[in-house]
Amino acid sequence: MHRLDGLVIMVQPMKRIVRNGKRILVPVTEKVADYKRYDKQRMRNEPERINFYKSKRWQKVRRIKLINNPLCEVCSTPDSPVLAEMVDHMIETNTTEGWSHRFDEEYLQSMCWSCHNTKTFSRD
Ligand SMILES: [Zn+2]
Repeated sequence: MHRLDGLVIMVQPMKRIVRNGKRILVPVTEKVADYKRYDKQRMRNEPERINFYKSKRWQKVRRIKLINNPLCEVCSTPDSPVLAEMVDHMIETNTTEGWSHRFDEEYLQSMCWSCHNTKTFSRD
């Protein structure tokens, strides 16, 4: 049985994620746990946040940000431009600081979905 246990650990599927700016390998199960934790945080101060994301004021700030910065601010380069598809809050809106700056353009970044997913699933 011990040999089998060892084998199970060895063949455990791993995922590469970015954490604290470093690329590391983690078990897939940890990635799922990360996601669940994030989901729990998100639920904390709903429905105020839901109303915020639906508000006319945020829609306008978001639109202006994408007009001013139409390219992904994380991965786009002059040689290979990548269109931004969403506007990300650099500081999560479920934190006090992030919430107080939720409309401030200097706290926003245009992002493609790929970069946003990397950020979402690698947060601590
Ligand atoms: Zn990107």
